[in-house]
Amino acid sequence: MNSIVKLPYDDSTCGWYEALPPPAASHRLQGQQSADHVVIGAGFAGLSAARRLAEHLPDARILLVDAQRVGYGASGRNSGFVIDLPHKFALEHPDPQHKQRLLGLNRSAIAQLESLINQHGIQCQWSHAGKYQGAVGDRGLAYLDHFQGLLDNLGETYSVVERRELASVLGTEHYSRAIFTPGCYLMQPAALVRGLRDSLPANVEVLEESPIRGLERDASGLWVLNGDNGAIRTPSVLLSTSIFTQEFGYLRNRLLPVMTFASWTRPLTDEEMASVGIQPDWGLTPADHAGTTVRMTQDRRLIIRNTYKHVPRYGRSVSGGTRDKIREDHRKAFLDRYPTLSRVPFTHTWGGTYAISRNFTNFFGKVNEGVHVTACDNGVGAAWGTVSGRLLADKVLGADSQQLQDIQAVTGMPSLNPPEPFLGMGVRTRIRWAAWNSRSEL
Ligand SMILES: Cc1cc2nc3c(=O)[nH]c(=O)nc-3n(C[C@H](O)[C@H](O)[C@H](O)COP(=O)(O)OP(=O)(O)OC[C@H]3O[C@@H](n4cnc5c(N)ncnc54)[C@H](O)[C@@H]3O)c2cc1C
Repeated sequence: MNSIVKLPYDDSTCGWYEALPPPAASHRLQGQQSADHVVIGAGFAGLSAARRLAEHLPDARILLVDAQRVGYGASGRNSGFVIDLPHKFALEHPDPQHKQRLLGLNRSAIAQLESLINQHGIQCQWSHAGKYQGAVGDRGLAYLDHFQGLLDNLGETYSVVERRELASVLGTEHYSRAIFTPGCYLMQPAALVRGLRDSLPANVEVLEESPIRGLERDASGLWVLNGDNGAIRTPSVLLSTSIFTQEFGYLRNRLLPVMTFASWTRPLTDEEMASVGIQPDWGLTPADHAGTTVRMTQDRRLIIRNTYKHVPRYGRSVSGGTRDKIREDHRKAFLDRYPTLSRVPFTHTWGGTYAISRNFTNFFGKVNEGVHVTACDNGVGAAWGTVSGRLLADKVLGADSQQLQDIQAVTGMPSLNPPEPFLGMGVRTRIRWAAWNSRSEL
């Protein structure tokens, strides 16, 4: 049997999740079950895959299983940008068609989410707000110039926003310039994934707090998924477990577990909003990717996200002391931008784990008879998880489409990592080096 060694270990301090009403009691895996298809991992990818399987097969029994509550994993604890543009490194890809395919896939994910949000009335602060890419100093400005060139090559529309104009939205003159791209959407991630779960077709059963601890094949060739209080037999497993895919024995030594962290304030009062001249509902990502993401939510909370950690033991790799230090760093980044809001406290600080690969390549496809995987979101998985989950279900069922061909053309095999201890040393050094170089943008 392939024993799954490490399970997700997310903190209980995620602001997005805590802002929601407590969820109803979970249904858990119990006893001996069988299913036509089992999707493991109920983030953006798994929710999308399970929905699509059910659309194709309304009479099939589809189980969607997660070790935690829906919304508790990375999909419910991110910064809430649903980004249409390809990732920075993908934007540098030499093949223009590759980039157009990525753009088309991301945009179809956004359309898919928007249609579900409208159809089911999901209350998740969904907003066509666009996105600022902001530079503080010379280093950021150089990155911004580079980004502008990439957008020109791509033929994308954008606008350049200078300090004063930017300050009339952000309420701070901290940024010297930004590029605004209109295609990004913002949302409350925990509310969105919970809404996606609640609106799944009736033949998808969601089993939460049900870690799968082992995957083996029985004598008849069926997969047996072993949980704490039961097991599932199925001919078809879809793994949408992001970085945890390696724990199932697939893509071993090809994914890198990375954590990043966020803090947010309580909602600002009318007076506080007016005192800094800030608008609600915008998002800014750093021109230098090692810098700080800032968001103002529709309910007027300011969010600061920065810091990366290599986490071989996922959430368990980060001590309480390290979390305290990260919160202090967030506070400094907040006060650098909003010194007059020094009395506005952070109410929550949290982290989340996701997967990157050294060659920034996402994996999509079959890994074994009856086992399919989408993994390695490279940190922009709201759109990618959504579209890759849907298309993975199509692939499993043999439903061909131009989009399926596109996703197969742009995905591949994440490159092999060097062995430990060289991997950990190398990644830590690279993260520290990037943080040091980018300190003026933090
Ligand atoms: C602080 C932060 C900010 C981010 N900001 C953004 C952003 O603004 N925009 C964006 O696009 N991306 C962002 N990301 C990245 C984004 O959250 C991820 O790319 C995305 O959530 C990946 O979705 P997924 O469905 O592939 O995987 P996940 O959401 O990680 O889902 C995998 C699921 O598998 C489950 N699982 C794992 N092992 C088992 C097991 N053995 N048994 C059962 N279940 C298991 C986990 O509990 C988890 O729920 C951010 C991430 C963080 C942490």
